[in-house]
Amino acid sequence: MRISEIYRPGTFGLSIEIFPPKSTDGDASLFENLDRLAKYQPSFISCTYGAGGSTRTRTVELCTQIQRRYEIAATAHFTCVGATQDELREWLTYAGQQGVKNIMALRGDPPQGQEQFVHVEGGLKNANELVSLIRAEFPELGIGVAGYPEKHPGACDLATDMLNLKRKVDAGADAVFTQLFYVNDHFYRFRDECGRLGINVPLVPGIMPITEFARIKRITAMCKTDFPQDLAQKLEAVQDDKQAQLEIGVDFAIEQCRQLIEQGVPGIHFYALNKSHACEMILNALDYAPTA
Ligand SMILES: Cc1cc2nc3c(=O)[nH]c(=O)nc-3n(C[C@H](O)[C@H](O)[C@H](O)COP(=O)(O)OP(=O)(O)OC[C@H]3O[C@@H](n4cnc5c(N)ncnc54)[C@H](O)[C@@H]3O)c2cc1C
Repeated sequence: MRISEIYRPGTFGLSIEIFPPKSTDGDASLFENLDRLAKYQPSFISCTYGAGGSTRTRTVELCTQIQRRYEIAATAHFTCVGATQDELREWLTYAGQQGVKNIMALRGDPPQGQEQFVHVEGGLKNANELVSLIRAEFPELGIGVAGYPEKHPGACDLATDMLNLKRKVDAGADAVFTQLFYVNDHFYRFRDECGRLGINVPLVPGIMPITEFARIKRITAMCKTDFPQDLAQKLEAVQDDKQAQLEIGVDFAIEQCRQLIEQGVPGIHFYALNKSHACEMILNALDYAPTA
């Protein structure tokens, strides 16, 4: 299913994001976990694109495997990093030929050791340009883009970042998937601001259940994500007990998702980190049942 067909009135879009494992054991474990998550019939499963284009073919291969094994649409993430426009076209053609239905169109992060993103000669500078290219030349593909309720870390301020989000949507994105957040108020403000700017596509909150606090601390520091003080204290208190961290993290995510659903979000995009356990616990607690 294309992203544009998922978020219809009365339906709820569940999506699961995974990343390409680095070993055959990792692949086996990923598919064991996806076997469990497939039972919830997600609207799509998305597969990230490695920094610097390190998973060019892997991302598409995994998407193809997912579509064949589960008959669930896959979304391939794709970035502008290190590629000319012709190389971007080549990859998009290949992805389409392999049956990929949707692209998460991203600029990507600067390569390690580089502060600023610098596009290659003949490449693209920002995700809005990638969205335009896909819309014009690959109209059959659905397009998701990234949104940042707490501002993209490289943006000078939130207002500018929001205008840049609007460029991506005006260029033809079908939906916005947000960066992970732990304070729902940031999402609600982001949603209000999108409304004011005329960004009228579905805004899908990105939720990363906390399963291991040390890992989440690294990720939130990198993304400059606000982390509730009381939650941090609870997790610090059980820093040697992974099971307790998982339980606290899952309880928090259940409540976070419950509130977002009450506030009418069109779906939830889980950053599952290739594991099913936390997502299963959350979806069961929410009595989740697929709507379409
Ligand atoms: C849902 C989601 C999935 C992701 N998946 C991946 C992945 O698979 N692989 C990966 O490497 N990374 C991934 N990322 C991270 C993403 O690549 C980084 O956050 C990256 O730094 C920005 O990408 P973007 O598409 O948001 O870029 P852009 O939308 O281009 O924004 C990047 C910065 O440039 C500014 N900007 C945007 N447009 C313009 C313009 N026209 N003129 C001037 N300034 C502009 C923005 O305000 C922002 O500060 C993902 C992020 C999210 C939220």
